[in-house]
Amino acid sequence: MRELAAFYCPRCGYYAYYQTSRHPQCPRCHSQETMHMVRMHYKEFMDMSCQERDDYLGNEILKHNPSLMERLTEPHKKYNSREIIAEMNMEIMRLDTENKVLSDTIKWMHDTIWEMIREQKKAEQTGK
Ligand SMILES: [Zn+2]
Repeated sequence: MRELAAFYCPRCGYYAYYQTSRHPQCPRCHSQETMHMVRMHYKEFMDMSCQERDDYLGNEILKHNPSLMERLTEPHKKYNSREIIAEMNMEIMRLDTENKVLSDTIKWMHDTIWEMIREQKKAEQTGK
């Protein structure tokens, strides 16, 4: 039997167990990037508590984001979780706004397409 390993998604934090020979993609966020293999035995990973897994994966994800890591390790921020939380909060709010704009655009496109279809039908009915 093939060896198992824990894999995690650096984008959304999802994790699951797969065979080590696989290069899984995240089933949750469908990121193009393949999931990263956790560098410890899967049994060791399984034995950790949820909190420990969270901490461990949180650290791994941060390591793969050099710019964020750089900002977090600025000397005065090193032990300043308040600023880190504030910064992440801002990022989340920014992404929320972006999402809102995107869904508004989609709604607008949807409405426009329906409007066009209605116009077309009307033209077809009256034109002939
Ligand atoms: Zn993901």
